[in-house]
Amino acid sequence: MHQVVVPNGSYSHCCVSFPNHIMDDYVYCVENATFFDARNSDYMKNTRRQMLKGEVPVQCRRCFDEEQLGKKSHRIRSNEAWDSAAVHSLVEYSIANDFSVVEDPTYLDLRLGNRCNLKCRMCSPWNSDKVYDETIELLHDDSFKEIWTTTYGQPPQKIGPWYNSDKFWDDVKSNKNIKKIYMTGGEPTLINKNYEYMEYLIEQGLGDKVELFFNLNGTNIQGRFIELLKAFSKVSINVSADGKDDLQHYIRYPSNWDVIEKNFIALMKIKHINLGVTPVLQTYNVLGLDRLLYFLDGCENQYQRKIHIDILISYHPNYSNALVMPETIRKIGAERLNTFREQSIICQRDQLSNNSIHSATEFLLSTCEYEKYIEQFVSYTRILDRHRNMHLIDMGPELWNLLNDNNIII
Ligand code: SF4
Repeated sequence: MHQVVVPNGSYSHCCVSFPNHIMDDYVYCVENATFFDARNSDYMKNTRRQMLKGEVPVQCRRCFDEEQLGKKSHRIRSNEAWDSAAVHSLVEYSIANDFSVVEDPTYLDLRLGNRCNLKCRMCSPWNSDKVYDETIELLHDDSFKEIWTTTYGQPPQKIGPWYNSDKFWDDVKSNKNIKKIYMTGGEPTLINKNYEYMEYLIEQGLGDKVELFFNLNGTNIQGRFIELLKAFSKVSINVSADGKDDLQHYIRYPSNWDVIEKNFIALMKIKHINLGVTPVLQTYNVLGLDRLLYFLDGCENQYQRKIHIDILISYHPNYSNALVMPETIRKIGAERLNTFREQSIICQRDQLSNNSIHSATEFLLSTCEYEKYIEQFVSYTRILDRHRNMHLIDMGPELWNLLNDNNIII
C-alpha cells in the first residue's frame, strides 16, 4: 500500500529502509519501470515473504534497532496507522498470489530529485545537489577521498531531472487509491513539480481526501506554499532543524536560524497543520540539541500550539554518528536530554515525543564500537571547515573544549 521514489528516481519500499533501492538484477527506477513493476519485483515479493514469516529483512534493520531502544519505530507507527480490514485483505491476496499485489498504493512518498539550498554535514550528494557539488570539489583532496571511498565506495553520480518525465506523472496520476502523499527531497519547497502536483490534486477536488505530509528544512516557506496548504484539510509538516543559532548554521550550512524561527512561527499560525520537528541527533549536536528543544517547548507554551518532536538518529555516515563521541561527552548530552524531558510540557502532553527523547538518551548511553571512528570525524570536520572557511568553535566553544580535554584536537 506504500511506495517510495527516492531522489535519484529509483523505487524503494520504505523511506527508512537501507539500502533503500528496489533491486533484483537491476535497480527499478522511473526510467525503466512503473510503480506496479517495482511493487511486484522479486525483491519486494521476497521482502513480504520474509516479513510474514517473522524474519527481519536486512534493509529493515533500522526499525528493529530503534524498537530495541524503546522507540516507536516507523514500522510500528505505520502498522498502527494503517491497520484495517482493507490492508488485511491485501495481505491475504498477496499470500495467495506468490506475494504479489495488484492494488494501487494508497500512500506515495515522492522525493522529486535532490535540489536543496543547504549542505548539511550529515547529508549526502543523493539528497542535496549542494552537497553533490561540494563532494565533487573535495574528491580532489586525498584525505577526503579516502573517507568518501570507505563510507560510500564509488564517486556520486549527478541526478538528472527524471521527475519531468510525462510517463512518470501519468503513472502517478493514474493512481485512484491515493489517501496520503509524502513530499521531501532535497528540499520540497524548491521543487516546482511539488507545487504543480498540489495544484493538480486541488483541481481534481481531492483537497479534502488526500493527506499531505512534508519534511522541510524550514528555510523557504513562501506565500504560494502557504496558500496551497490551506486548500488541504489534512496536512502534516515536519521541520528538520538540528540546533539553534550558530549550531544550526554550522550543521545545516548555510541556514540562518532567524529565518527558520520566523518561518516556524508562520507555520504555527496555520492551525490545521499538524506540526512537528525532526532533529537529527549526530556528533555535532550531542551537547547543544537541548537548546532547540527548549525553544520548541517555549513555542508550545507561548502560542498554545501542539508541537511534536521526533529525534532521528544519524547512524550513517559513521563520522556523523553521535556514538563516535567520547563517553564523557555523550553522558553530558544524555543528561541534558533527560533534564529537558523531565520538565518539558511537550513531553508531558505527548507520549511519542517523550518516548523519542527517551530513546535518544538511551542511544547516547549505549555501549558501542563507534569511538573508533573519531579520527574520521576529526579529519572530515577539518576538511569541511577548511573548505567552508569555518571552525568547530564557531558553533560555540563547549564541544571543542571537551574534545580538547579528551586529546581530540580539531
Ligand atoms: S536540508 Fe535535507 S536534503 Fe538539504 S542538505 Fe540538509 S539534510 Fe540534505
